[in-house]
Amino acid sequence: MTSQSRSHHLPRQILFFMLIGVIIFAGSGLYTFQQIASRLDAGAASNSQARVTEGLASLQTHVRLFSKDYNNWTDVYAAAWRGDIAFIANNYGITANQGEIFELALMFGGPFKRPISWIENGSRSPGGLIFSAETVASAVLALEAQDQTRPSVDFFAVEGGRAVIVTASYLLPDPDQVVTRETVRASAVTMIGRHLSGRDLAIIEQDAGISDLQITTSPKPGYLSIPLPDVTSSNSLYLSWKAAQPGSALVGQLAPVIAIVSTAFVALAALATWLVCKNARQLILREVEARELARTDALTGLPNRLSFNEAVQHELTNIASEFALVMIDIDRLKQTNDVFGHAVGDCILRNFSENLQLCADPGTFIARLGGDEFCAIVRGSGAAERAQAFLAVLEVRCSKPVKVQGENVHLSFSAGIATHALGEHVEETLRKADLALLRGKSALEERVGVYDINMDLADKSTLLLEQALRGALRNPDEFRVVYQSIMPANGEEVLRVEALARWTNPILGSVGPDQFIRVAEQTGLISELGWIIIDKVLTDLATTQEVCASINVSPLQLMKPDFVSDLLLRLEQAGIATARIQIELTENVMIRNQQAILDRIREIRSVGIKVALDDFGTGFSAISYLTATDFDSIKIDGSLLRSASESQSRKDFFNSVVSLSRAVCGNVVVEGIETSEQAQMAESSGADAFQGYLYGLPAAFNITCGPQLLPNMINKAATKEVTEGFNERLQRETRFQETATVFNLHSLSYPRATSSC
Ligand code: C2E
Ligand code: CA
Ligand code: CA
Repeated sequence: MTSQSRSHHLPRQILFFMLIGVIIFAGSGLYTFQQIASRLDAGAASNSQARVTEGLASLQTHVRLFSKDYNNWTDVYAAAWRGDIAFIANNYGITANQGEIFELALMFGGPFKRPISWIENGSRSPGGLIFSAETVASAVLALEAQDQTRPSVDFFAVEGGRAVIVTASYLLPDPDQVVTRETVRASAVTMIGRHLSGRDLAIIEQDAGISDLQITTSPKPGYLSIPLPDVTSSNSLYLSWKAAQPGSALVGQLAPVIAIVSTAFVALAALATWLVCKNARQLILREVEARELARTDALTGLPNRLSFNEAVQHELTNIASEFALVMIDIDRLKQTNDVFGHAVGDCILRNFSENLQLCADPGTFIARLGGDEFCAIVRGSGAAERAQAFLAVLEVRCSKPVKVQGENVHLSFSAGIATHALGEHVEETLRKADLALLRGKSALEERVGVYDINMDLADKSTLLLEQALRGALRNPDEFRVVYQSIMPANGEEVLRVEALARWTNPILGSVGPDQFIRVAEQTGLISELGWIIIDKVLTDLATTQEVCASINVSPLQLMKPDFVSDLLLRLEQAGIATARIQIELTENVMIRNQQAILDRIREIRSVGIKVALDDFGTGFSAISYLTATDFDSIKIDGSLLRSASESQSRKDFFNSVVSLSRAVCGNVVVEGIETSEQAQMAESSGADAFQGYLYGLPAAFNITCGPQLLPNMINKAATKEVTEGFNERLQRETRFQETATVFNLHSLSYPRATSSC
């Protein structure tokens, strides 16, 4: 589970725990409250039981005390034994009849042949048995069980359906007379008692602080009860009363308060939960936003590098299908920023990212990795081909200039494509895409590189050359410049030579300019190298006033913002007029970003430096830019001349290219003339000047162009002769080319360098 999905559950978790908290809190509160209430109730119950028991005991004590007086009475004892019932009735019975001290009296056994009794408000003449036979028998047994001379038993009994407090004892002489056990056993048993009255109950009620005390025949449900102790084995009467329930009463009293407090508590808890959940939701939203922001490029709104890394990882772990990584770089964004300002640069980036999104398939993931770097993940089968198609559409879209703040800005890009091989580490795929991009960047025609293994091989030799080149830049003596004359057709013009760079490395030996110029361009060293060559040329030119030089300049150096001002400064320092310099730009440079190049050409020409279009006929040979720009010179590539000898149609084509070039430019040079036949063809085409081994091999300045050689060099007849000296020089130059190409790995194809040997 991701931390994001975990945090999404947070509000529900808070709600759950809050609910549990409220339930536990309320439950434990209620439980505690109920416990207190029931303890209070239980305490009150046992208290009332004790009080009621006490009340009963006190009533029994009264009866027992009177029983003690009346049953230990010698006169009555004697009357009983003499059979004087009247005496007993007048002393004993009358007390029962009046009911003030006791209300019932029963005598049996001993001298009495039958039981005699008196009751309150009854007759003076004695009645019979007033209690049940079971009660009487049980009382006798209880008395006999006591090991005392004057035993007594207190109990409750029923008479006429009413509860009676009874004390049973023996009818004996006064306490000061000693009685024996035998005497006691032989005596009559007397039971005196009084009814348990409503008044008695009221007093107990009052003393015990209880209510609704009543006599029941069984424990009354919902009431507290105690049995009225019977003398028989079973109790037939109970005292029942309404239990005082202080706890329950408290609950009853506090219930509304508790209800209000609980409701308020639940409401507060609910409010707190709602607030916490709301805040949690906001926090989650903010977290999601922050995550989103951390993954989004602020300027373009595209996913950023972090998001790209995650997408790639997701691709690897979750999706088994093929995918291709496309690294895309906007060309010259830094220069655009420098020239037009960062606001324009930002507009371009936004515009480009919109174009990227519009041109890509819906399933393609696009991210801005930073600066001018973008990357796309093209998914599914045939990913590399679909990536190429996507880039082709993008190129068409970008071909129209973008109007930003009133400026027409031309947008172009380079790209590299690498397909992810199954099981390959993604870093490796990224490296391949980067390498392909590097190729795309350094190629002049095809700006989209598709990775293949040869790129890696070439990269290794490039790396080797780059290292050597970096060393050489610190030691410029490894470089030298040779010059090849450009022969004018009329023989009267100023001598012009083309400066060609040479590099001899102590370890690598001679390296052809085709190779080291390319590596310098790929590794960003070209400007530094270019200025070394230019400085050397200017030093040579400073030795004479009569020679003009054509200098090959890489478009990468040409498009540096300070190129023109730097060149002018150097010319001024060397004391060389701008008119003596011509810059050669290869035709392929015109394929991309025409407008910027054309602007730069105009700037160069405006300061008096000439510009030649080099290698015409090898690239797109677009007529459009020939008419749009005034080049000072057009150089027809030697390959066109060589193919002209193959057929009449090719010859016608060659002638028409020369004618067309002459129509738009006053000076057309045919390059690569090696034989007299080629020279003848070039001359008859109407070209203005010629260049090639036939006219002069590239050589050191003093040999080739020194003032002493000037007359020979402008003498066409003399140069047309293949002299011994020429052969020697040709061999030497060819040997240079051969040694130079020895280093040329076969995986790298440089057709011109190999074909020139
Ligand atoms: P490029 O500008 O077209 O220069 C002419 C090339 O043709 C030179 O090759 C020259 O030696 C060769 N060449 C001259 N005559 C003949 C001929 O009759 N037959 C044949 N087959 N070749 C002939 P190089 O010196 O090897 O230079 C190759 C390329 O390297 C140049 O082509 C130019 O594009 C580049 N390069 C040379 N020096 C410089 C430099 O200083 N700066 C820059 N940026 N590029 C340079
Ligand atoms: Ca050239
Ligand atoms: Ca050329």
